[in-house]
Amino acid sequence: MIRFTNTLSGGKEDFIPLVAGEVTLYTCGPTVYDHAHIGNYRAYMFEDLLKRLLKHRGFKVTHVMNITDVDDKTIRGANAAGLGLKEFTEPFIRAFHEGLAVLRIEPADVYPRATDHIPDMVRIIKVLLEKGFAYPKDGSVYFKISRFPGYGKLSKIDLTELRSSGRVESDEYEKESVQDFALWKAPKAGEPVWETEIGPGRPGWHIECSAMSARFLGQPFDIHCGGVDNIFPHHENEIAQSEAYADRPFARFWLHCHHLIVDGEKMSKSKGNFHTLRDLVETRGVDPMALRLLLVSTHYRKVLNFTFEALDQAAAGLRRIKDFLVELETRSFPAGATAEPARLLAEARAKFDEGLSDDLNISVGLTALYELIRSVNTLIKDDRLAADDAKAVAAYVYSLDGVLGILPPRTDDRILAADLQAKIDAREKARQDRDFARADALRKELAAAGVVLEDTKDGVRWKIVKTPGAS
Ligand SMILES: [Zn+2]
Repeated sequence: MIRFTNTLSGGKEDFIPLVAGEVTLYTCGPTVYDHAHIGNYRAYMFEDLLKRLLKHRGFKVTHVMNITDVDDKTIRGANAAGLGLKEFTEPFIRAFHEGLAVLRIEPADVYPRATDHIPDMVRIIKVLLEKGFAYPKDGSVYFKISRFPGYGKLSKIDLTELRSSGRVESDEYEKESVQDFALWKAPKAGEPVWETEIGPGRPGWHIECSAMSARFLGQPFDIHCGGVDNIFPHHENEIAQSEAYADRPFARFWLHCHHLIVDGEKMSKSKGNFHTLRDLVETRGVDPMALRLLLVSTHYRKVLNFTFEALDQAAAGLRRIKDFLVELETRSFPAGATAEPARLLAEARAKFDEGLSDDLNISVGLTALYELIRSVNTLIKDDRLAADDAKAVAAYVYSLDGVLGILPPRTDDRILAADLQAKIDAREKARQDRDFARADALRKELAAAGVVLEDTKDGVRWKIVKTPGAS
């Protein structure tokens, strides 16, 4: 059983998905007004670890990550750059996907863009107006928080000083200014405008996630993730909008990851401790897999202190794992198997699984792996490891990489049968056309034929996991 700390209840809960064997996951994606920094990637990395663990345990995960391509920040940025919104956001969207690929973060099933889902948002706002949860004011529409009794249940906000007559128009605000928030914003000079049933204007940030999660995952869905910064007001507002709209719970599990700081301080451009992925990888030559290991190795609910010393340690850890595998795969061992490695493997497996099951306790998991490496290295040194032991240990370490994602992928260079290649191409086309149902159906057909796909920044990669036709 996997247990997660659910921000909603404040405690650890057994994770049981709505549909046995399947998990619906929504993670708040980037606001594309700048290049993502390593603090952003820390959150995406935590979500990747979560998703990989769920898949490793046999769940089928449907993952939706939105792209906020219209909000206060993107509009401000586009205006400052003298560009149209789309022109301004497009390079950041591209860079974001490149960054995910560099860090080997598994792609989401769909990346809906807010500007493609305005009608979905309008539909929800219309119902909220009809039900009396929202009201118009000077061409904008606001959510009336006093009408929603559950307001504050996620952030545990104190509503005693609630100024119910007040309204906040900006997308982001502090807890101190909890007020009715904007669902829809009246047209303003220099802002994009959509002509809709509820009048001209553009959406507030919060309604975007309510609309896109409902569109792709329905309501309720299993897990909603984000950074702790998102708890208030963003996620609190998502809950209010969605539950008032549908009379049903919104997300069942809320997992939030903590901040990343640099050298013990908040990251900021003025302090010169602000790192984007590009700075680190392209300018400083940091190994992305060492960075990946560093970013996953602090528990998601703890503050991660990024230092170059910690990065060196992560690189050393990675080297240790790789050297170990090289040793196992290239040294010649006597034939057969022995009892001790089997015992060590069972111990490592139990400890790793137990750690990750306990609210993604990665420290326990990595300790299990490093202990296994140390013990097996001792056996090698004492000439007590046999060939089958070496194979079993290497296979186990590679299997863990399904969760950790830090080792170079093993490639299969066999040529694909033409009909399978045609299916891969058709799936690529379906994805480009945003026909995700067809893309998913093709992916399943390929999987049934023993071909597993991996989407990378260089396009789709494939791997044969079993001979077609063989059981
Ligand atoms: Zn969101």
